[in-house]
Amino acid sequence: MGSQSGQFMPAVSRFIGEETPELVEGHGATVVDADGNEYVDFFAQHAAMSHGYSHPEVVSAVSEQTERLNFSAYDFPTEPSRRLTERLAEVAPGDLERSYFVNSGSEAVEVALTLARRATGNHEFLALGEAFHGRTYGARSLVGWSGYREGFGPFLPSVTHVPSYNCEEFPGGEPETGAEYAEILEYILEYQVSDVAAFIAEPMFGTAGNIPAPEGYFKRIKEICDEHGILFIADEVITGFGRTGKPFGIDHYDVEPDVMTTAKALGGGMPIGATIATPEVADAFESMDYFSTFGGNPVATAAGLASLDVFEEEDLAGNAAEAGEYLLDQLHDLQSRYPFVGEIRGRGLLVGVDLIDPDDGSPLAKEHSLDLRRDAIDRGLILPAGQGWNGNTIRINPPLVIDDDELDRGVAVMDECFELLADRLA
Ligand code: PMP
Repeated sequence: MGSQSGQFMPAVSRFIGEETPELVEGHGATVVDADGNEYVDFFAQHAAMSHGYSHPEVVSAVSEQTERLNFSAYDFPTEPSRRLTERLAEVAPGDLERSYFVNSGSEAVEVALTLARRATGNHEFLALGEAFHGRTYGARSLVGWSGYREGFGPFLPSVTHVPSYNCEEFPGGEPETGAEYAEILEYILEYQVSDVAAFIAEPMFGTAGNIPAPEGYFKRIKEICDEHGILFIADEVITGFGRTGKPFGIDHYDVEPDVMTTAKALGGGMPIGATIATPEVADAFESMDYFSTFGGNPVATAAGLASLDVFEEEDLAGNAAEAGEYLLDQLHDLQSRYPFVGEIRGRGLLVGVDLIDPDDGSPLAKEHSLDLRRDAIDRGLILPAGQGWNGNTIRINPPLVIDDDELDRGVAVMDECFELLADRLA
């Protein structure tokens, strides 16, 4: 067990205070801690471990590449980095054909911002208020919510936060397709901001609580971006590579972004991110406009190639779609028995469950979610409760290879823990 709280190594305990288990082994969606306790993982390490822990194909690709050539800096391409660019061009939507490799999601966002300024000659950015794009300064400047901003400013001055589709009531009545929510962007561009380089959005809010955008939303957003000569950047750091039941989150909306940021699942556990752009946009980048020594290194890109093989061979997107349906059924059953289970939503294996005060429907106080998380850990389930915009969301995003037995065990633990929560609330 980790013994101190804080963020610096050693003895980090970030997930659950003093009780964060120190992990020593993992396979599929199950991990084992230093005391030999097993956990079903409904968290997948911030939705990054899509392929399952220590997937044998990723492990052998990493070990073979490490023996052959374990490093090359960004400006010395290698066979794996060249092949990974080709493979990503095949799986990414539309004309997204060129990849810029980095080491994390935040860095992929930094590259996208730098590229957008270079490609358009404009400097302003638009981002959704509830979005999360990372914690480096450019990326953090895009994040609208106070919890991620307070105490860290000043930020990049050229960011405007756009109200999103995630509001209780839409003025003028229930929207038909969701395109209505996008019209605010037209207004902002007309009256508020000019010289805009890009609009960036997650196809589905992850950190804010695993919240999908309505059906017609991104089509209208892209039309408005095109009309105004603005690039549309889809941040697929969480939603990429099958997580939502389709290859990419934006595939649910039949929209082709100009730039896409990816990371997390791409490396099958290894640190790698890729900013993928159309040739037209990518051509604007000149040598040394961005540089990252470790970006595109052969071991991380070999892991990326293996992870794409697994993604296709094991149909991870199909698994996520199927397992997501199965999970939603089970969660609706829990909802019918526990009045504090509020909205349940999701796509594929990116599912959000809100906990509410049964008396008035308001978000349940966060301390209850933290108790729930602790009860779950004690019973062998890593359950990311206490998350989202209001701190009352359980974000369920397990590895995409999770099997029915692991899902059943996880839901059974949730049931037990909900029983305890019901007693506490009584
Ligand atoms: N973009 C999105 C949509 C994310 O969810 C995250 C991380 N949760 C990031 C960017 C930042 O990724 P990283 O932690 O790899 O820097």
